[in-house]
Amino acid sequence: MPVQTLEELARIDSDWVWQTDAAQNFTYLSPEVERFLGRTAGALTGTSRMTIAANGGDGSFWEPYFTALDRRQAFTGFIYPYAHPDGHVRWFRISGEPVVAPDGTFCGYRGTGTDISSEGQARSALADALAELRTSHASLVEQNKRFEAALSNMTQGLCLFDEAARLVVYNQRYCEIFGLAPEALRIGMSQREICAMLVAAGCYRGGTTVDVLCEGTRQALLDPDPKPIQRELADGRILAVCYRTIEDGGWVSTFEDITERRRNEARIAHMARHDALTDLPNRTALREHGLSMLGKPRRAGETTRLAILCLDLDRFKAVNDTHGHGAGDALLRAVSERLCARVRTGDLVARLGGDEFAVLHRVADAAGALALAERMIELVSTPYDLDGYTVEIGMSVGIAIADEAADDIDRLLKNADTALYHAKGKGRGTACLFEAAMDETAEVRRAIERDLADALKHGMFEVHYQPLVNLDSNRVTGLEALVRWRHPQRGLIPPATFIPVAEETGLIVALGEWVLNRACRDAVAWPGGISVAVNVSAVQLRHRTFAQTVLLALAASGLRSDRLELEITESVLLDDTEANLETLHLLRRTGIRISMDDFGTGYSSLTYLRRFPFDKIKIDRSFVQDAGKATEAGAIIRALVSLGTSLGITTLVEGIETEEQLAAVRAEGCQEMQGFLFSRPRTADEIAAMLTAARDEAAAA
Ligand code: C2E
Ligand code: MG
Ligand code: MG
Repeated sequence: MPVQTLEELARIDSDWVWQTDAAQNFTYLSPEVERFLGRTAGALTGTSRMTIAANGGDGSFWEPYFTALDRRQAFTGFIYPYAHPDGHVRWFRISGEPVVAPDGTFCGYRGTGTDISSEGQARSALADALAELRTSHASLVEQNKRFEAALSNMTQGLCLFDEAARLVVYNQRYCEIFGLAPEALRIGMSQREICAMLVAAGCYRGGTTVDVLCEGTRQALLDPDPKPIQRELADGRILAVCYRTIEDGGWVSTFEDITERRRNEARIAHMARHDALTDLPNRTALREHGLSMLGKPRRAGETTRLAILCLDLDRFKAVNDTHGHGAGDALLRAVSERLCARVRTGDLVARLGGDEFAVLHRVADAAGALALAERMIELVSTPYDLDGYTVEIGMSVGIAIADEAADDIDRLLKNADTALYHAKGKGRGTACLFEAAMDETAEVRRAIERDLADALKHGMFEVHYQPLVNLDSNRVTGLEALVRWRHPQRGLIPPATFIPVAEETGLIVALGEWVLNRACRDAVAWPGGISVAVNVSAVQLRHRTFAQTVLLALAASGLRSDRLELEITESVLLDDTEANLETLHLLRRTGIRISMDDFGTGYSSLTYLRRFPFDKIKIDRSFVQDAGKATEAGAIIRALVSLGTSLGITTLVEGIETEEQLAAVRAEGCQEMQGFLFSRPRTADEIAAMLTAARDEAAAA
């Protein structure tokens, strides 16, 4: 055995040398092996390497070793665990080369062994330390990156100063806010230098100097509970600037552009107190203003009092329905302009919603308030030119005036509203001053408004009929349909009470349609020559589908069109005349007859007679009250009858209650009459019975 060679090997880079036979049993181990293996070389000689290995000799771990052995190849640096007698596992690295006899026979392996246990520990500790270092470096880099990203993505501008007021960190947004080139700033610049630069560039509003800025910062930093300081820039932008001290004596300043936010806040505050359509103050603003006007101490000798005028447009809904919401909006704006142009400074015009406005105004007395209301009604009632077509509306006004005791703005508003209800009830275009007695009637009206829609849904309406009588033959020629509301608590309510409310709310369209259908169905059962007259409100007629509704009612009931009469009042022809006339012409062409109702109550009835070929005029009952006496009324009836005769229009006089009146009317040559004298309005059943009796009588005669 070439021991010298082994010894040489051992000296180079190992702890011991070894040799095995062809079956892996040790044939030689150098004596130093005892230090590492804990056994003497002698004790180990003859044992197999596999028996001293800590994890047996099989499995993938040993594969490279066995492969080398199988191929009789040299191997280097094979590492394996060793079971030390002290109970620990140690790690060995062995290298070896095959031993071949001169005749070529394979005799085993020889090589060196090194205990790498302690070396490995040191190395792994180092590796761990290195890895840790690497990760902490990486996380530092990562942290830095994040910091950079956060800084440059901030919506606020930021500057960090050290305790000597020198710039340490700043971000791009800071430069953007002040319109600075990024190179304008240097780390290490003093705050004073930066401020001087900004002032010189004219960034701040006039009057802001370097001293003001630096002193502002100093003061802010002294504040234990720092709040943002608002600074205005020369171009109108507003900045919120925050200063916060940091631990090592420096501070951070942040700059936020709050221009848009301030603008939005102002816009929202404005919106909360103004109406979007007209930009007039709304109810909230009106209350506040009213409160402040009431709360103002009176100056000595001042005698004026606060008046609230509640204004409500008449026939506004009709404009909306006929011309569309665009026209309605334009009209509301035009009204608001007219009102604003008329009031004095210190007065307030507000829009309370829909077509309701209010005016706050100081007056000397009630007469002053009424005079203002009249002026406003006149102003608003002047025709409007909306995109080429002319529209006329009216206005009703309710007035409440503060007295010494009542300085409650809500009470005052409610009173003005009550007076307004009253004004509307009295007829359009009037102004009413609040009186305590109004409270009750207003309450009734509000209750009606509440119940009306339900009443139609639950079939609480009925139609009664009143005969129209021919004065020559004394026969019934037609029956006028008059609607009634059978209210569960209030009993039978007359139309004068609820029709204006239904017109106001628009329910008249549905109610009118119902009446029309009911009347046509009832009338089919009557003898052939008898027609039915149905009242049509202006609101209904203006509705787009009115003509269709009428024709459908005829078709559904099977009533012939020449047995239907529609009664309209002058208000129908007051505004938007062309469209209304067109509808009336269309219906008249189908054979339906059109009567003018309550003739003489308006101021231009005669004009309308020339504008439409009415089939009948019904002279209002106010004319017959005096007809018996030879007064002007009698003369008017006479004139109308002769006008009617020449135009081929039937004349009827309403409200005949006495024989005397009947005689007078007859004497004037009137053709028809209607009134309690002949019959009150009766239910459909009573009418049917009456007509049957009349027919039987005629048959018997
Ligand atoms: P109008 O169309 O002028 O109807 C005649 C009104 O005079 C009826 O009142 C009738 O009861 C009343 N009357 C008849 N003869 C006399 C009399 O001799 N003396 C007195 N003092 N009054 C008499 P009513 O039923 O209370 O109706 C009032 C108004 O309500 C009607 O006046 C009409 O304008 C309206 N109206 C009634 N039904 C409807 C309806 O279905 N639709 C619409 N839009 N309006 C209706
Ligand atoms: Mg009528
Ligand atoms: Mg009438």
